[in-house]
Amino acid sequence: MADRMLQFVSVHQHQPDKRSASDRRQDFGEIYRDFSVPQARTQASRCSQCGVPFCQVHCPVGNNIPDWLKLTAEGRLEEAYELSSATNNFPEICGRICPQDRLCEGNCVIEKGFDSVTIGAVERFITDNAWNEGWVRPVRPSRERSASVGIIGAGPGGLAAAEQLRKQGYQVHVYDRYDRVGGLMIYGIPGFKLEKEIVLRRHALLEQGAIRFHLGRGVGAVDSDMAIAFSTLRARHDAILIATGVYKSRALGGPGSGLPGLVKALDYLTVSNRRSLGDAVPEFDSGRLDARGKNVVVIGGGDTAMDCVRTAVRQGARSVKCLYRRDRANMPGSLREVKNAEEEGVEFVWLAAPEAFLGANAVTGVRAVRMKLGLPDASGRQSVDPVENSGFTLDADLVIKALGFDPEELPTLWGEPALEVSRWGTLKVGHTSFMTSLPGVFGAGDIVRGASLVVWAIRDGRDAAEQMHRWLEREGAAQRVAEAAE
Ligand code: FAD
Ligand code: SF4
Ligand code: SF4
Repeated sequence: MADRMLQFVSVHQHQPDKRSASDRRQDFGEIYRDFSVPQARTQASRCSQCGVPFCQVHCPVGNNIPDWLKLTAEGRLEEAYELSSATNNFPEICGRICPQDRLCEGNCVIEKGFDSVTIGAVERFITDNAWNEGWVRPVRPSRERSASVGIIGAGPGGLAAAEQLRKQGYQVHVYDRYDRVGGLMIYGIPGFKLEKEIVLRRHALLEQGAIRFHLGRGVGAVDSDMAIAFSTLRARHDAILIATGVYKSRALGGPGSGLPGLVKALDYLTVSNRRSLGDAVPEFDSGRLDARGKNVVVIGGGDTAMDCVRTAVRQGARSVKCLYRRDRANMPGSLREVKNAEEEGVEFVWLAAPEAFLGANAVTGVRAVRMKLGLPDASGRQSVDPVENSGFTLDADLVIKALGFDPEELPTLWGEPALEVSRWGTLKVGHTSFMTSLPGVFGAGDIVRGASLVVWAIRDGRDAAEQMHRWLEREGAAQRVAEAAE
């Protein structure tokens, strides 16, 4: 067994085994199998322990990758876990769903000609193993403060901040309009990438650490039909974090775009995830959001589109096509996920965009046109233009729109015109303070940066928590409370 590093010359890269495509089409279980202890140790030993580890530089949470790889190779798995969890609240989740090819692994400079270290898979192994061994424990702050913080949104940004603030001894309350914790990790991302149990066990752990969750509690304006007014929360807590994500689906126009059979990606995925969690879901039972036996066309080329096509395959669709206006090299989604989708039987129609949706009472087809890539614009991204007389038709009884998400208009929705937002509707926060235009109100995750990644939400949540703690200290809330608690 490996206990030395720099083994990349003799040990080849080996990602965890994948279930066969025919097998994984049958269910929503994760597609990658677990590393065994010897596999994880051997793969970790390939790291060449770079003096300047570019893997770490390109990891949004700045994970101390070379050190935990070395500890893993040496079999010091509990220490590897301690180190890995010191910088990341949910390492086993990032190990599963970070686009490693664009982040840590894509920047692994092991040696020219050798494949990168399997960083994500080792990170996942370290924490899964720690759960099995009983090393993952709830937060136990060394001192209690009576100052309280209110966190709006139980996605990765809000949860990471909640855990960090609880470590400081604050009384932490998390409010979410959903009935479960996890945000897009529970209702957006399908189980074949991230099994629901992984998120549920994190929820249970946070609760054991005395973080209080108020679920089914949407936050809104005083006179709205939401459960709690934003102003009530401000009065109730010493500081507030807004981590509500981005949920407004980008619209798709054109003739026939109002036909039944055209659905929003997140509606489709949420219903499928709820079924995986065992909920009764009438929208699925009615057939509207069920792909079984249908010709499905998904429009878009990001992670959401990839999740939709692969969900449709698992629901037993007759055919599944992904229509994207650029080509494979220029798509925003992870190429690893495209490969997985192709293996599972999805057909990609590159360089094509919808023009119209056909059908009398419900959609029966998509009229599309071929596109060509043009010159790069100011941002360096190539323009896309339609090719004349290139129209074609695809059969479709279910069209899923996966064109991305924008923020909801929080100042209007919450009756807080003083809450400043950017021209894209994202929350404006101080670059280093993470504070919004309202004193004591902070922001983190997608609602600040726009649709992004789980790992960036975690990073923001950690940074915002640090700034909230400093602010509470400056305001005297932290100290005052400490005296009261003594
Ligand atoms: P969210 O996860 O969106 O959580 C926000 C929470 O706030 C939700 O629980 C919501 O219910 C709650 N909320 C919103 N408004 C209110 C309100 N008014 N009152 C109370 N609660 C409210 N990222 C990856 O890294 N890898 C992937 O593979 C990946 N796949 C994705 C697949 C899909 C289909 C989607 C949609 C996204 C994917 N992402 C992926 C992106 C990732 O999920 C997000 O970037 C991340 O979840 C953002 O975290 P967040 O905490 O900012 O917000
Ligand atoms: Fe790589 Fe993501 Fe883990 Fe960082 S958190 S090491 S980017 S998988
Ligand atoms: Fe190891 Fe690759 Fe990171 Fe270098 S870049 S420290 S080889 S994982």
